[in-house]
Amino acid sequence: MRSLPVLLLLYVALCSAYPLYGASRDADSSMDLLQQYLENYYNLTKKVESIYRRRDSSPIDNKIREMQKFLGLEVTGKLDSSTLEMIRKPRCGVPDVGHFTTFPGTPKWSKTHLTYRIVNYTPDLPREAVDAAIEKALGVWKEVTPLTFSRMHEGEADIMISFAVGEHGDFIPFDGPGNVLAHAYAPGPGINGDAHFDDDEQWTKDTAGTNLFLVAAHELGHSLGLFHSANPEALMYPVYKSFTDLAHFRLSQDDVSGMQSLYGPPSTSSDDSVVPMEPHPPASRTPAKCDPTLSFDAVSTLRGEILFFKDRYFWRKSLRILEPEFHLISSFWPSLPSGVDAAYELISRDSVFIFKGNQFWAIRGNEVQAGYPRSIQTLGFPSTISKIDATMSDKERKKIYFFVEDKYWRFDERRQSLEPGFPRLIAEDFPGVNSKVDAVFEAFGFFYFFSGSSQLEFDPNAKKVTHILRSNSWFYC
Ligand SMILES: [Zn+2]
Ligand SMILES: [Zn+2]
Repeated sequence: MRSLPVLLLLYVALCSAYPLYGASRDADSSMDLLQQYLENYYNLTKKVESIYRRRDSSPIDNKIREMQKFLGLEVTGKLDSSTLEMIRKPRCGVPDVGHFTTFPGTPKWSKTHLTYRIVNYTPDLPREAVDAAIEKALGVWKEVTPLTFSRMHEGEADIMISFAVGEHGDFIPFDGPGNVLAHAYAPGPGINGDAHFDDDEQWTKDTAGTNLFLVAAHELGHSLGLFHSANPEALMYPVYKSFTDLAHFRLSQDDVSGMQSLYGPPSTSSDDSVVPMEPHPPASRTPAKCDPTLSFDAVSTLRGEILFFKDRYFWRKSLRILEPEFHLISSFWPSLPSGVDAAYELISRDSVFIFKGNQFWAIRGNEVQAGYPRSIQTLGFPSTISKIDATMSDKERKKIYFFVEDKYWRFDERRQSLEPGFPRLIAEDFPGVNSKVDAVFEAFGFFYFFSGSSQLEFDPNAKKVTHILRSNSWFYC
């Protein structure tokens, strides 16, 4: 290991620091932690004096900014609370940036068939569970590349996988429970390609402790040649995410692009070798409910359930069941268009009104009602309005809201007409709702505004945003 002397020094510092610092030295120990973090992962030059005793703090501030930018934090250049919280989280021991020689050049395997060996086991899990986690982790990468893997039970494999505590023969000792979970070496001979797991962690099959599959999939990404990604959605983001939905684990596009830049896409079978597959345009791709970038066309309640419309599809979410149903719009309502703009439910008529362009439809159950589509001008909109962005019914107050660009109209259900004094500015009456509204619905007395991949929970009584969520938060991803 070429980076050995630097790492060795700072790990010794880390291990000896903790027993000495009690609660009274909180600030100092936070600064020590920061210094170690920057030295370990951001190539901060090791100096004899601690950060807080240095006269010129600008190199440190710059390093803090670099770290905050990489980890997706607000770039303040200061050790603020969210930065401190981040650097206390468990993570991978491989540096994020800097010219550590761990990964010289752009190393990759020059062959597509690789061998691996599980050298020893953690006592935390049955052997079969470890075998399965590693196999599944390799499978994640196998699926998106031409790479194949076979297991060896003795001798030297390309990827040697082991569990160890403290010093374990590579001069980069592990650090006990928490902080560093594992590390791995880039492709190459000898120790290169190997992955080491800190056995002071509690390795688990689920997310109760540290999930072995997730960490292994990340480390094996290094073993195959990937660096850390600054994209927080990526598997190759350096900080461990315990809240991942294991049943629906997916690589981010960032991970796939990174790995395919090294090895290319999986080789196609001989059957479709004549016609190369065209990549699907985004619109025809089947949306994935746990895609963190998922946005919706329209959202509406329907008989106590919630409908989320997206392209040609919709999810139907019952509040009693975790897993939403996923359907083609045309399989329920063959005459409805895809890519709808807006939808709301009118409980008094047991109907959902669906808008696209300047037309709207009324559906009841799985029937589109007679007499539709109608023009939105029949509701009283001026002819300059050619589409509705989002709509919602406030069941209690018997009002329908229509959002168009930065304004909104309100429709009185009893009088069957748009109320006077509208349109009004959305930002004025819904402070905090500042971007274009894709979809909106009301539930439990809150208004939920969707804009791109984010969702704002708005309390109409307090007139303020009470939560910022992902658009797909209703799907428990
Ligand atoms: Zn890593
Ligand atoms: Zn190691």
